[in-house]
Amino acid sequence: NKQVILRDYVTGFPKETDMILTTKTIKLKVPEGSKSVLVKNLYLSCDPYMRSCMTKIEGRNYVPPFTPGSPIIGMGVAKVLDSDHLNFKEGDLVSGFIGWEEYSLITMPEGLSKIKNTDVQLSYYTGLLGIAGLTAYVGFYEFCSPKKGENVFISAASGAVGQLVGQFAKIMGCYVVGSAGSNEKVDLLKNKFGFDAAFNYKEEPDLDAALKRYFPEGIDIYFENVGGKMLDAVLENIRDRGRISVCGMISQYNLEKPEGVHNLFYLITKQVRMEGFLIGGYLHLFPKYFDFIIPLIKEGKIIYIEDTVEGLENAPGALIGLYTGRNVGKQVVVVAHE
Ligand code: NDP
Repeated sequence: NKQVILRDYVTGFPKETDMILTTKTIKLKVPEGSKSVLVKNLYLSCDPYMRSCMTKIEGRNYVPPFTPGSPIIGMGVAKVLDSDHLNFKEGDLVSGFIGWEEYSLITMPEGLSKIKNTDVQLSYYTGLLGIAGLTAYVGFYEFCSPKKGENVFISAASGAVGQLVGQFAKIMGCYVVGSAGSNEKVDLLKNKFGFDAAFNYKEEPDLDAALKRYFPEGIDIYFENVGGKMLDAVLENIRDRGRISVCGMISQYNLEKPEGVHNLFYLITKQVRMEGFLIGGYLHLFPKYFDFIIPLIKEGKIIYIEDTVEGLENAPGALIGLYTGRNVGKQVVVVAHE
């Protein structure tokens, strides 16, 4: 069983060598009476929150930290090989937390979801039909209170979550602008995902001026994925009674001490609502989200771009690439094809 294990807790920017590829011999059989299932892992999801599991910081871990010497744990798609649990049988396709390894013995399979709609691309269950998709849906519709015609700004806009938020906002009839870290991504935003405009924040010496250029009348809604300087610039440009859905702050994840935000007083003077959320509290909305998104996928009204790497050995590099913007779209690792 090939595995990717965490060498030790990480400080600062993670490196590929913080994760090691090893091989362990295992039995491809579930112990009798264990109520567990054995799965063959197919697709792994690389997610920004995983950085927080590589460290132990009181108050900042909202997902349990990884155990050094044990496989990285993440969301993924797998196929049941053997089961001692009533709810699962050989051949079932499932999604949920699995190890970064070829085969995982899941001792509490109640946490896995059986995949019912198999007529859509299976890897979508790591992103579009997984946590990223639900996050875009909940973060936009529940936390932004969007209205037709409003001005929406999204950072990390071409990523797993951002590309969907932009498309949802367009469906709603909003004016939508995204920022991203390369010209290739900017091109995707404008020409593939249908954003009204997009810019490369790395080429903008003055983010405040850039936002004034794209939003001369100000921003109604900011879907926050990055934090730091971008948040400060948005606060300069947000309109009265604007809303900020705080989904993530990836620019801060590798810092020992988060940067300060200077413009928070605008929350008062402009009466802005800024609210953070953790998607773990909204998993019950998956059925509602599926009813909404699956028809849109089938009608070709939603486009989803994945960045796929093949092989467990490439998983560490793929994960680290999230923090430098190497991924173009949802980062997926293929462990095995079905
Ligand atoms: P993405 O697919 O968007 O990948 C991460 C992207 O972040 C990179 O491609 C890069 O894009 C950008 N980025 C990386 N480092 C920086 C930096 N220092 N400054 C600015 N941008 C940076 O990831 P997801 O769509 O999966 O996640 C987006 C956000 O949503 C993250 O902050 C994540 O933590 C959060 N999230 C929150 C959830 C919740 O429950 N609240 C659930 C799921 C995700 P670029 O090239 O454009 O810079």
